[in-house]
Amino acid sequence: MSLVFAPSAAATVPVEGGGSFPVHRIYCVGRNYAEHAVEMGHTGREPPFFFLKPADTVVPVAEGETGQIPYPTLTKNFHHEIELVVAIGPGGSIFGYAVGLDMTRRDLQNEMKKQGRPWSIGKAFEQSAPIGPIVPVARTGELTSGAITLDVNGVRKQTGDLKDLIWNVAETIEQLALAWNLQAGDLIYTGTPAGVGAVVRGDVMEGRIDGLGSLRVEVV
Ligand code: MN
Repeated sequence: MSLVFAPSAAATVPVEGGGSFPVHRIYCVGRNYAEHAVEMGHTGREPPFFFLKPADTVVPVAEGETGQIPYPTLTKNFHHEIELVVAIGPGGSIFGYAVGLDMTRRDLQNEMKKQGRPWSIGKAFEQSAPIGPIVPVARTGELTSGAITLDVNGVRKQTGDLKDLIWNVAETIEQLALAWNLQAGDLIYTGTPAGVGAVVRGDVMEGRIDGLGSLRVEVV
């Protein structure tokens, strides 16, 4: 059967060392660092929970370059969330890791939360998932600790350590796999440490994770 119009281009993320990673789905973990859970008004270890972003919300940014994302519509409180991204390969294996930003229209998310409605409008909007190159696990080894930070205009805003994930990468994959068929091409944004905050046009965010390099993104 022929397509009735040309399909959208597949979302891809460059892989360090060559090639492109074709994105299937983007899963995101909510409140996965204790201090961030507290700043969002929660305490204690609760079961992990997940939301999704469409694959075409990724904005790949090469190492050493500054990506650009537009200040999105409808919001007056556009937040950064720096996150370790896990890239899933064949058989549910870890293919590699990247530095990612789970950009959030916090005012819209909070309003939807208050009303008990889905968060999609706060999370799953255009260009909401900037991501650096995927570094194969063969190069990094398994990432279970290391600093994760975000600077805005050179000022440190978020600081954490991967060892402080409430649900670590292995547990997150296990929990996700109970609910969905994880498959090659899936990305998992594993949650953000404390210090989330707003950015405005002209701000430059620079995220870093030990062993992965940096991700620079300007809001335009
Ligand atoms: Mn997040």
